Amino acid sequence: MTSKLTLALQKKGRLSDDSLNLLRQAGLSFEMTERSLKVSVRNFDLEILLLRSSDIPEIVADGVADIGITGQNIVEEEGYPVSEIEKLGFGKCSLSLAFPENESDLSLANKRIATSYPVILQQYLDQKNIDAQIVPLSGSVEIAPKLKIADCICDLVSTGSTLRSNGLKQGDVIFESQAVIIGNENLSDEKKELLEKLLLRIKAVLTAKKNKYIIMNAERKNLPQIEACIPGLKRPTVSSLMDEDFISVASVVEEDFFWSTIEKLKKAGASDILVLPIEKMIL
Ligand code: AMP
Repeated sequence: MTSKLTLALQKKGRLSDDSLNLLRQAGLSFEMTERSLKVSVRNFDLEILLLRSSDIPEIVADGVADIGITGQNIVEEEGYPVSEIEKLGFGKCSLSLAFPENESDLSLANKRIATSYPVILQQYLDQKNIDAQIVPLSGSVEIAPKLKIADCICDLVSTGSTLRSNGLKQGDVIFESQAVIIGNENLSDEKKELLEKLLLRIKAVLTAKKNKYIIMNAERKNLPQIEACIPGLKRPTVSSLMDEDFISVASVVEEDFFWSTIEKLKKAGASDILVLPIEKMIL
């Protein structure tokens, strides 16, 4: 019997929808109900376990699951020996210090800092040689200054709106996080092979999301200027139009440089620019 790869995912929470969407976009087919704890993938040797995100590093380190998707902040805080295999680009947040709005002294020395991340915070304090008192709380950290149980806090922030609604202002970021795939450090060769196949599919989706396919028309004489604007994978595809003085140019452009590239292309003489999403991209 061939063994299956086991993947631990967050059952319910901020990372679960994006994690499940990624697997589905990678072509994995499975059915899940609200109450599922273990799900078999129909078209891949993969079993999905649904767990609390903070349990995932331990489950992967123990080998109960071979791989898992969770936040880097959780991996760092839990400290289990697992390998980070792939950054996934969602679940982005910063572990930041935050102070009461009217506080002018933003130093940490001798202050009481409330946090659910005592390990990462202690590492930061040690690194900076700061003597402060950590007040560990498992939730509702933002309320701690109002309750006078802490002078400031260290918590996860993405937009900052929760901080503002609790009368806090953001200070230094001490750890940047996003969702990652982590893996057990002693996978068998058979499981490593399955993991490689799964990663090929997942990376094809992640790379595709970061790029767009563009096609445009231009006068043939403008090709050198147009080519200079496209930081594509290789040189662009150029085809002739019926009118020999005109060409069609196609290329891939990274999402991050997309608008600046379009502006340059227009100046270089491109017109009728079509932009298409890419479903999968295998390099
Ligand atoms: P949950 O258990 O649903 O609260 O998910 C928590 C994980 O989602 C965190 O450990 C982070 O990795 C990630 N995350 C992303 N943005 C935020 C945010 N604004 N606040 C808390 N967690 C976040």
